[in-house]
Amino acid sequence: ARKFFVGGNFKMNGTVASIKEIVKNLNDAQLDPNAEVVIAPPALYLPLVRESLRKDVEVAAQNVYNKPNGAFTGEISVSQLLDSGATWTILGHSERRTILGETDEVVAAKTKFATENGLGVIWCCGESLDEREQGITVDVVSKQLAALKAQVSDWTRIVIAYEPIWAIGTGKVATNQQAQEVHAAIRAWLRKEVSETVADETRILYGGSVNEKNCRDLAKETDIDGFLVGGASLKPAFVDIINSTQ
Ligand code: 13P
Repeated sequence: ARKFFVGGNFKMNGTVASIKEIVKNLNDAQLDPNAEVVIAPPALYLPLVRESLRKDVEVAAQNVYNKPNGAFTGEISVSQLLDSGATWTILGHSERRTILGETDEVVAAKTKFATENGLGVIWCCGESLDEREQGITVDVVSKQLAALKAQVSDWTRIVIAYEPIWAIGTGKVATNQQAQEVHAAIRAWLRKEVSETVADETRILYGGSVNEKNCRDLAKETDIDGFLVGGASLKPAFVDIINSTQ
């Protein structure tokens, strides 16, 4: 069975004070021991979070570079993240793809470098509203997956997050059926293009306007193995999302 996984993507939000409060709230909460929980604050707060956060919750970066070190101004390396206690990174979030111009190939190269050097990767994919309306959602996601497969051979450190762009930060969550349909298609793609084992073992998370009200029903879907939460991960309601299968 795949362990339920909940990630909190803080994006470019928070201050020392507000992040300390989020950590305190998590430290004081009863969290489902059967859920794997990872929070991704802005990188400069990673050491602060790692030092103060309960040890059964892991920390993630929101991006990482694919070179070991050197003259790459503004970038952060995998070994620096590991050194700061982060064990995961998000990669290929739609905001990085659309606003910062990361291509499928760049995201795949970063995923390869991160996983080969000991970091877990929450790899994101998903279609725009226009692509959904054209009926090409599965084609778009398959193309993103194919670019990943072209560079990655070890899938054991990868968690997939399906995040339809039209559902991110809009309050417009995918219906259970819309999400399940794409999750099932991703799993079928893994079965056909990678292996039975990778299809059976890879967690596929849903992200996009997940909150404490819609999480329980979404979590019941066969191929939804957890969530990648944006806005609600900054609020006390994040605990209810972590506990959504209890
Ligand atoms: P929201 O939960 O704020 O819609 O954001 C989802 C997301 O992008 C998580 O990575």
